[in-house]
Amino acid sequence: MKPPPFRYHTPRSLSEALDLLRESQGDVRVLAGGQSLVPLLNLRLAYPEVLVDLNQVEGLSYIRDEATRLCIGAMTRQREAEFSPVLTARCPLLVDALTQVGHPAIRNRGTIGGSLAHADPVAELPCVMTALDAEFVAAGPGGERVMAASDFFLGPYETALDASEILVEARIPLAPVPRPASFVEFSRRHGDFALAEAAVVLEGGGTCASARVVAAGPAWTPSRLDAVERLVGSSGVARTDGTAQRDLVEEVGRTAEAAVAALPTHAEATAYQRRLAAVLVKRAVAHALERWSRN
Ligand SMILES: Cc1cc2nc3c(=O)[nH]c(=O)nc-3n(C[C@H](O)[C@H](O)[C@H](O)COP(=O)(O)OP(=O)(O)OC[C@H]3O[C@@H](n4cnc5c(N)ncnc54)[C@H](O)[C@@H]3O)c2cc1C
Repeated sequence: MKPPPFRYHTPRSLSEALDLLRESQGDVRVLAGGQSLVPLLNLRLAYPEVLVDLNQVEGLSYIRDEATRLCIGAMTRQREAEFSPVLTARCPLLVDALTQVGHPAIRNRGTIGGSLAHADPVAELPCVMTALDAEFVAAGPGGERVMAASDFFLGPYETALDASEILVEARIPLAPVPRPASFVEFSRRHGDFALAEAAVVLEGGGTCASARVVAAGPAWTPSRLDAVERLVGSSGVARTDGTAQRDLVEEVGRTAEAAVAALPTHAEATAYQRRLAAVLVKRAVAHALERWSRN
């Protein structure tokens, strides 16, 4: 299949790209890695009149360790992030999630920003960025604005980005050593989009002080599970207490089922998908606790 006709621009700078977004008439889209947008064009599911290609724009591809946070440029390829020594050392959870995005050929072209802006409800990066408490920087005609990941994903393929804005950076807050964390998903075949997934980040030294627990799949956006977060965060479970951790994991399984059932799930979500999401939350908490105990 061939895409519908569109006007195509290759700006060299961010300001040029923003001008093109502002000045162009009709449905204007930016093109990043093209791994979601080009199939949509070829299948005639999207009819943009103008494409603003970000691939020649200087300065949007980088991974920077700024001590208290990681900054990742929107045009950083997923594959580059996957093999980044900085991310491996400072944010292994993100690397875990990246290895599960499609296939290597897709990650070679697909970008971090493209996956976030596309906001597929079962994409790995929105789920894991929500668990990591990331912030996203959008550049627009009035300058930059920063949004929390939890405010960014509004619905399926819908974000808080305005049509005149370009996502330029993801920022991940860092601890001196990586927090114990886990990302797990289930898909029918290797490389397929997941049916459900869960990401967990724990905080604490000798005892668990708080947790961020996110499930994706049954709802249109990645969802933090407050009840599970409260349970894990208030458990005071010790890093060395295997028995208490096993009891906690069983309790998490029961609480996760109720928490997922209470989510505003979409009409297509099946009972299986909800059950799966709860099981994955339980596994992710167990895995994060196990990693914590080993350190
Ligand atoms: C066979 C196949 C399997 C896949 N499997 C998975 C999977 O398992 N998990 C997964 O998460 N993804 C999967 N993907 C999608 C892949 O990860 C894409 O790379 C990603 O969703 C989009 O990134 P991109 O850079 O290619 O963006 P594009 O396809 O270029 O753009 C996607 C959308 O985001 C917008 N956009 C892109 N960049 C920006 C920006 N900086 N600012 C504002 N808007 C922007 C575009 O306008 C467009 O609407 C798969 C794709 C294919 C073809």
